[in-house]
Amino acid sequence: MSLLTIYNCFDPVLRKKCSTIENIDDDLVQLSEDMIDTMFHAPGAGLAANQVGVSQKMIVVDLGLGTDNTKPTTIINPIITASEGEVIAEEGCLSIPDVFAEVKRAQKIEVKGVDLQGKDIKLEVEDYLARAFQHELDHLEGILFWDFLGKMKRDMLRRKFKKKLKETAS
Ligand SMILES: [Zn+2]
Repeated sequence: MSLLTIYNCFDPVLRKKCSTIENIDDDLVQLSEDMIDTMFHAPGAGLAANQVGVSQKMIVVDLGLGTDNTKPTTIINPIITASEGEVIAEEGCLSIPDVFAEVKRAQKIEVKGVDLQGKDIKLEVEDYLARAFQHELDHLEGILFWDFLGKMKRDMLRRKFKKKLKETAS
């Protein structure tokens, strides 16, 4: 098991759009395994490759979210192909630890992508799982959850997080 460093929201890699993955090699499979270990260790429900400093379109999500089981999955080059409904709920991010805010998301989505064998996959997910996927897909586009908040609220949370970083550094 190998744990990766999770980059925080002020690192430029979190603001850069990730590139489409063209080849699935051993390094990518290893990265996916390490990302899953890192996600569960955090603990979190999902992780995007750029959160561990790799600017490529890959996410891991715990499909067991909301159940007693864990069921990690890896999706390469994921896209949302359908969405419906709207739900507002509290959301957090492993790159902005201990900061939470209410964000509006689609209630149900369809996600397509490729698995580690290069096989096409399609998933239909709802509620918190749909939220996790939307959150991780945003990461791949350089978007953070607080981008959806009003400027005042975002600036307030940013200040709070900066202060916390300073405290932990000293
Ligand atoms: Zn996040």
